[in-house]
Amino acid sequence: MKSREEYIDSLRRLNLEVYMFGERITDIVDHPMVVPSMNAVAATYELAHGDIMTATSHLTGARINRFTHIHRSTEDLVKKSRMERLMGAYTGTCFQRCAGMDALNTLSVVTYDIDRVYGSRYHERFLKFLQYVQEQDLVCDAAMTDAKGDRRLRPAQQADPDMYTHVVNEGSDGIVVRGAKLHQTGALNSHEIIVVPTRAMREEDRDYAISFAVPSDTKGVIYIYGRQPSDTRKLEEKTYDVGNLFYGGHECLVVFDDVFVPWQRVFMCREHEFAADLVERFASYHRQSYACKAGMGDVLIGAAQLIAEYNGIADVPHVRDKIVEMSHLNETIFCCSLACAYEGAPEPSGTYYVNSLMANIAKLHVTRIPYELARMSHEIAGGAVVTAPAEKDLRNPRIGKYVEKYMKGVADVPAETRMRVLRLIEGLTMGMGAACYLPESMHGAGSPQAQRIMIGRQANLAAKKKAARRLCGID
Ligand code: SF4
Ligand code: FE
Repeated sequence: MKSREEYIDSLRRLNLEVYMFGERITDIVDHPMVVPSMNAVAATYELAHGDIMTATSHLTGARINRFTHIHRSTEDLVKKSRMERLMGAYTGTCFQRCAGMDALNTLSVVTYDIDRVYGSRYHERFLKFLQYVQEQDLVCDAAMTDAKGDRRLRPAQQADPDMYTHVVNEGSDGIVVRGAKLHQTGALNSHEIIVVPTRAMREEDRDYAISFAVPSDTKGVIYIYGRQPSDTRKLEEKTYDVGNLFYGGHECLVVFDDVFVPWQRVFMCREHEFAADLVERFASYHRQSYACKAGMGDVLIGAAQLIAEYNGIADVPHVRDKIVEMSHLNETIFCCSLACAYEGAPEPSGTYYVNSLMANIAKLHVTRIPYELARMSHEIAGGAVVTAPAEKDLRNPRIGKYVEKYMKGVADVPAETRMRVLRLIEGLTMGMGAACYLPESMHGAGSPQAQRIMIGRQANLAAKKKAARRLCGID
């Protein structure tokens, strides 16, 4: 396994084409806008010891980072949920390595299933790629969400054929692909990009039913860095005004401008009837991963309790109640993530798959609970969460004493201590940390309606009606 330093060095060797604020940037690894997110991924290397964060490769028997592991038991699935929470609480942000793990597990199932129908060799290719990822201890960005254009139209019906990533050319040595993937979490911190389809496909969409992996610095792959609220605070001299001092996340718009992919790295090509299955499995695995938000919730609840103490209101009954309510809601996320793991079962490939219904329930809770937690944290923290002066004001020789005097809560806690927590709450719920905690909770791993559709499909109403009919004597 790589050390934190080896990971960072390996990023330095990449030659990515990246744009930010309209300009090409080349100092990616040291760029202040990128460093916090890189630190968060680096933490997955730093903490890679013990049996939560590491596993035994079923391919080689070697000790590997769990983020590159294929789940081979219920216990593996449960440890994955625990790892997600642990990392979320440690970094207080999105640590960006889960979607890659979820794509690897999905492909380990789906390539096997495609081969069983078509006699193709996708699984063998995939396992070779997997072994490479495990041995090199790589970060994979799982690229699912296409541009989508007019949402009413299918991929092949779009006015612009590139609204969904597709094959534009095919030869004896590989395929050429064009399109874009949006909201790519941690793209600049990744060694590999694993592309998967974003929706179910029909026969006429077959050129869009593709999956493959390319090294992140492949020619034709272009990264456009996405903005987040208060992101330029990262460009200021080191200041606690950023909230989370160490970690952050980022997303990119990733363009595939006629990118060549050798056959060895193609894991699905035009088997359109498997696209829905692939999407559903990836979604379920990734919805389990959202135990990360319970970890972030731990940080927010901790910060809410601290600010209650610094404000002198920790013993007020409604505040105590709110902290209990926050804990109850946050544990609900974790309960659901654990439940879908415990109810998981093996697929024909030997990979363990989560209980999809429960994974969707978990994620649907995640689209609501963090917002509710944010609301309660604001109520407890008070308005200073958005009005506190800057760290530089506190350090100013003329006005610093006023900031110190009037930004205090209880007498024995310095104003700076109180303002650090206020900034952390601000960052988590309204600043750049909020991108990871709130809208990502809403839309990451699919927006709430996507979960409702899957819950509707899997709720087994026939069995429920039967139970009701029996008890009232209809049958
Ligand atoms: Fe992992 Fe959570 Fe970030 Fe998704 S949102 S990549 S599950 S930390
Ligand atoms: Fe995400």
